[in-house]
Amino acid sequence: MAKVHNLGFPRIGARRELKFALERYWKGEVSAEDLANTAADIRRENWQRQIDAGLDLIPVGDFSLYDQVLDTSFLIGNIPARFREGASVSLLNQYFRVARGRSPDPHAPPVRAAEMTKWFDTNYHYLVPELGPEVQFELQPQNLLDQIREAKALGANIKPVILGPLSYLWLGKGPEGFQSLDLLERILPVYSSLIEKIADEGVEWIQIDEPILALDLPDNWKTAFETTYHQIRQSKVKVLMASYFGPLGENLTTIAHLPVEGLHIDAVRGRDEVTIVLDKISGYKTLSLGVIDGRNIWRADLNQLLQWLKPIHEKLGDRLWLAPSCSLLHVPVDLGQEDQLPDDVAHWLSFAQQKLEELNTLSTALNQGEDAVARQLDANASAVFNRQNSSRVKKGEVQNKLAQLGDNTFFREIPFNERKTVQQQSLNLPLFPTTTIGSFPQTPEIRQIRQQFKQGSIDKNDYARAMETEIRQAVSVQEALDIDVLVHGEAERNDMVEYFGEQLDGYCFTRFGWVQSYGSRCVKPPIIFGDVSRPAPMTVEWSRFAQEQSQRPMKGMLTGPITMLQWSFVRDDQPREVTANQIALALQEEVLDLEQAGIRIIQVDEPALREGLPLRRTEWAKYLAWATRAFRLSVHGVATSTQIHTHMCYSEFNDIIEAIAELDADVITIETSRSDMELLDAFVNFQYPNDIGPGVYDIHSPNIPGRQAIEDLMEKALAHIPARQLWINPDCGLKTRQWDEVRPALESMVEAAKALRRRHGTPASH
Ligand code: GLN
Ligand code: ZN
Repeated sequence: MAKVHNLGFPRIGARRELKFALERYWKGEVSAEDLANTAADIRRENWQRQIDAGLDLIPVGDFSLYDQVLDTSFLIGNIPARFREGASVSLLNQYFRVARGRSPDPHAPPVRAAEMTKWFDTNYHYLVPELGPEVQFELQPQNLLDQIREAKALGANIKPVILGPLSYLWLGKGPEGFQSLDLLERILPVYSSLIEKIADEGVEWIQIDEPILALDLPDNWKTAFETTYHQIRQSKVKVLMASYFGPLGENLTTIAHLPVEGLHIDAVRGRDEVTIVLDKISGYKTLSLGVIDGRNIWRADLNQLLQWLKPIHEKLGDRLWLAPSCSLLHVPVDLGQEDQLPDDVAHWLSFAQQKLEELNTLSTALNQGEDAVARQLDANASAVFNRQNSSRVKKGEVQNKLAQLGDNTFFREIPFNERKTVQQQSLNLPLFPTTTIGSFPQTPEIRQIRQQFKQGSIDKNDYARAMETEIRQAVSVQEALDIDVLVHGEAERNDMVEYFGEQLDGYCFTRFGWVQSYGSRCVKPPIIFGDVSRPAPMTVEWSRFAQEQSQRPMKGMLTGPITMLQWSFVRDDQPREVTANQIALALQEEVLDLEQAGIRIIQVDEPALREGLPLRRTEWAKYLAWATRAFRLSVHGVATSTQIHTHMCYSEFNDIIEAIAELDADVITIETSRSDMELLDAFVNFQYPNDIGPGVYDIHSPNIPGRQAIEDLMEKALAHIPARQLWINPDCGLKTRQWDEVRPALESMVEAAKALRRRHGTPASH
C-alpha cells in the first residue's frame, strides 16, 4: 500500500487568523494566552483538514508563530545574548525581539533584530541563525513536545518535522571567516537528544528537512552528511530525510547510502532523476516522491501521474510514499473560499487543501484500483483537457508575435555613449542629477480614495480628479525641492505588480490566496493563467498629466517583466521565459505609448531580477540570458533620445553585475545605503559602462539622512565611478514613509548634489 503524507501545511490560517492575532498581540490588544489559543486553533484545524483528506501521516512541528528557522534556534537554544537581557522577559517576548527587534513587554528595550533573508528561491523569508565560535546549544524541546501531544490527542498518526542540523548551520551566518561546519560537533549531541525525546513520545517516523541538498555543496559539507546521519542512526525512531526545491544532482551519490530509513525527493522539479534514485537507493529504504507541486497552484494531471507511478508502485510497494514536492507553506490554504474567480480558471487550480485531495486520489487509485476513484479521475481529466484547449489560455495573436521575435537579442542599436550625448541635448541635466524611485508617501487620504473608487462610492471622474490633485502636489513638492527628474508619485497604485496585472489579459486575482512572506506579512500573488496581452494603455494618462504640470522631465514608471513574473503564480504549461516575453511585449506597447505622449524618461523596475536566479550556479547563465533579454525586449524600439532607467533593490548585486550591465539601461538606480556602498566592490573589477544612481537614503528606516552623510556616501562612490556617470537618489520608493520624513531627507539629498557639483564640476562636465 502506497502511503500519503505531507511535509508541512500553511500556518497563517485560511483567513489569515494568525496574522491578525500576532498584530493584536504586538499592539498589546490581546494577551499571550489569547495568541496561544489562536495558534492552537489553527493547528487543530490544519491537522483536522489533513486527517479528513485521508493522510496516513500528518506533520507536527511545521507550525510557527513567526518562522520555522527561528523556532529551530529556540529549540536548540541558540539565542544570542542581546535578546536574553532582562531575566523577566518571557520566552515568547524574547522570540519576538529576535524576529522584530521589539516585543510588547515594556521592560525589554528595542534591540537589533536578527537578519532576515529569502528561503531558497521562494518569497518566504527566514531569520538567519547567528553563529560563531562562542555559540553553545542547549535543547529546549518543550514547545515541540507539547505540539506532538496536542496532535496525538486528535488520534492521528503523526510525523514530527525538524530542520536538519546541516541545513541549519548552512543557513546561519557567523563573523567573517567563520566556518559554520565547525559547530557540527557541538550541535549533533543536541540533535541526538532531541530525536531521543521525540522517540519517547511514541512516534514511528521523524522527518528531518535538509533542503540544502538542492544546492551545490562543497565536499566537506557532503562528507558532513555521512558523519551526521551515521550518528543520528543510533535513534529509536525512523528517519525520513527530506530534500526539496530541486533535484539532488550530484548530492544523490552522497545520500543514497546514508543510514536513514526513508528519503523524500522533489519529484516535480527533479522528476527526471527519479529513475536514477530508484536504482541507487538500497532495498530497505522508503522513497517518498513529492509528486504534487508545492510551489504552484495548478491542478496536477493525475491520470498522467498515475501511469508514471504504477510501475514505481509495483517495484516499491509499501515503500512508496506520496507527498507534495515541498511544504505547502508556499501556496494558499483553500480554493473552496474563492467565489470570484472565472469559472473555468477555478477548475484548473489547486491550493493546499486540494493538493491533499489530489494525493488521496492518487494513492487510492494505486492501492485499490482506478475504479475506486473514477469520478475524481474523470473530473481531473476534463479540467486538464479544458485548460489545454481553452481559448483564454492560448491566444493566436500573442503566439504570432512571439513567434516573430526570432533570436534577436534586442540590444539598442546606438551604443550608450552616443545615446548619452543625444539624451543630454534633449534633457539638459546637471552633473549628479537628482531623482526619486517612483512612489511618494501613500497617505491615509490616498488609500481612502482608492478604496472608495474600488467600492464604487466615487465614480471614475471623481477618482481621476482626486489623483490629479495628488500628482499636482507631488510635482510642486519636487519642483520646490529642486529635484531634476520628477516622478508622478504612484498614488494610483496599491502594489507594483497587481496594478499592472489587473490591466493585463491573462492575469486573474484571488480573494484569499494569501501566502506568508515573513512573520505576519502575507502576499497575494496574482495568477498568470493565459497568454498575456495589453488591451489598453495602463499608465499613459497619469504620466501625460504629470508631464503637463512641469517643464522638467517626468519619468514614466513601469514594473519590468521579470518582477511581474517573479511575484506571481506562473503558468506551468510553458517555459517561464515564454511568459516573460509575453509580458515584455505588453510592456513594450506601453513604453512606446508613453514615448508618444511626450515622456522622455521611462523607468522599468526590476527589483526581483536577482530573486529569479536558479539554486544551482550552473543554471545562472541561462536564466540571466533570457531574463535580461526580456527586459531589453520590453523597451525595444524607443528613440535614441528616450532615456531608459531601471531600478533594483532587496539584495546584493555584486555577483550579477555583468548581467545588470547587459540590461543596457541608460541609468540604473540601485539600493546601497544600508550596506554602506558595499555594492561598489563590484566596480573595482568591473567597469560598469552606463550611468548609475547608488541609493543614498535608506528608505526602510525612519531616520532622516543629513547632507553630510549623503555627501560621504557619494564620495565613496566617486572613488570607483567617474562623476559624469553618477546620479543621486534614494534606495527605493518612498510609499511607506511619511511626508515629514521624506521632505527633509530629499532636501539633504538635493543640497548634497549641489555641493558635489561645486566640488567636482568642471564647465566641460555640464
Ligand atoms: N517604482 C517603485 C516604487 O517607487 C519601485 C518599488 C520597488 O523597487 N520595490 O515604489
Ligand atoms: Zn526598490
